[in-house]
Amino acid sequence: MHLRKSLLAALLAASLLPLSVLAHADNDGGHRHVKHVLLISVDGLHALDLSNYVATHSNSTLAYLSHRGVTYSNAATSQPSDSFPGLASLVTGGSPTTTGLWYDDTYDRALSPPAQTDGLGNPGGPCPGKIGTNVAWDEAIDVDLTKLDGGGGINPNYLTRDPLRNCVVVLPHQYLRVNTIFEVVKANGGTTAWTDKHPSYEWTNGPSGRGVDDFYGPEINSIPVALPQFPGCSPVPAVDTTPDDGWTTDLRNIQCYDSLHVQAVLNQIDGYTHDHSRWVGVPTLFGTNFQAVSVGEKLKVAGYADVLGTPSAGLASELDFVDQSLGKFVAELKKQGIYEDTLIIVGAKHGQSPIDVSKRVGIGGGQPTATIGAADAFDISDDGSLIWLTDSSLTPSVVTTLSEPANQQALGIQEIFAGQSLINKFNDPTKDPRTPDIVLKVNTGVISSLRN
Ligand SMILES: [Zn+2]
Repeated sequence: MHLRKSLLAALLAASLLPLSVLAHADNDGGHRHVKHVLLISVDGLHALDLSNYVATHSNSTLAYLSHRGVTYSNAATSQPSDSFPGLASLVTGGSPTTTGLWYDDTYDRALSPPAQTDGLGNPGGPCPGKIGTNVAWDEAIDVDLTKLDGGGGINPNYLTRDPLRNCVVVLPHQYLRVNTIFEVVKANGGTTAWTDKHPSYEWTNGPSGRGVDDFYGPEINSIPVALPQFPGCSPVPAVDTTPDDGWTTDLRNIQCYDSLHVQAVLNQIDGYTHDHSRWVGVPTLFGTNFQAVSVGEKLKVAGYADVLGTPSAGLASELDFVDQSLGKFVAELKKQGIYEDTLIIVGAKHGQSPIDVSKRVGIGGGQPTATIGAADAFDISDDGSLIWLTDSSLTPSVVTTLSEPANQQALGIQEIFAGQSLINKFNDPTKDPRTPDIVLKVNTGVISSLRN
């Protein structure tokens, strides 16, 4: 296989794919001169979005990269997918059953609660007095989740603790069960950088805690502030002072937020740290993600105009923003004379928003918690539900309740995984403290994070 200098992986949400792409780079004679890898996830992007965009924007950067690279149009996400398990797939090759990262907010039967109730009200509790706790790897653990810098990062008092290790706090990177490509690059003398949407993504540091030389995680759920360095972002395009709504409720705000990620990468292409404070050389492996398309798909004012994937005006503007940003990366790589040496991978770690908007069903009403009742220890839903029970032995009775036709209808359930069907597909919840007792696969279009 002869690969050209830039690869475009059109992933509908890829799991192992980018790693196989990198493996090609290693084994392929045409890629011996790759010195840098720039990994970009356009969260939410479907393969169809890419095909349609390239077909209708012949002068776009996506078209430019597509014509020079390889497009994989039939890739698949981790199961379940979303930003957290999806990125884990991209940078480890693992799925939730191996990485231990099922979602950003989950449950662990073996850990104890944080010392203090965190920023989203997840309760603190005694260690080792209480064993079994939800584990929040989102904005909840920021010192101050309303601030763009998270108030300075992660508050250790908001972290869960390990009763088997003298109740020491568990940092995100210590929770990850497998190695990362950042660690591999570092172990081979390279340098690394990663930019993501919460301070909690420091888990990308991997088991050593030092896998990413230059980590940047501006809090996406912070209250939007003016960003005078970006045109159109000062004053704040759409003022929203609701704590925890952040930058994701408006089509323009999310572009301002993503611009922080873009600038970080541009600074790194120039050889500086993300904040341009120090010259360190261009990283061997670096990258970021965009949230603009995901927001454009989820906001009810945007989404798709038809089932063939024609974007609404709102979603189209987000796709254009991403394309123009990719154009900035390409231009800067060329300016620095390293375009020929850089493998560019563009993919999507998840793409769960329905294209047929008539199928969109928002599940609210405190479900499935309300249906499960007292047996529910913790559950989290997005495009599917992960459910941990107070005792795994309650699984058959809860499944009986969930499988009643009225409940299946109300929850948009397509298939219930529990017991042996869950063990076959995932792990055994009675042996792995992180595996949910029940996983609900939902009908196409059902999404709990649907926003107005
Ligand atoms: Zn995402």
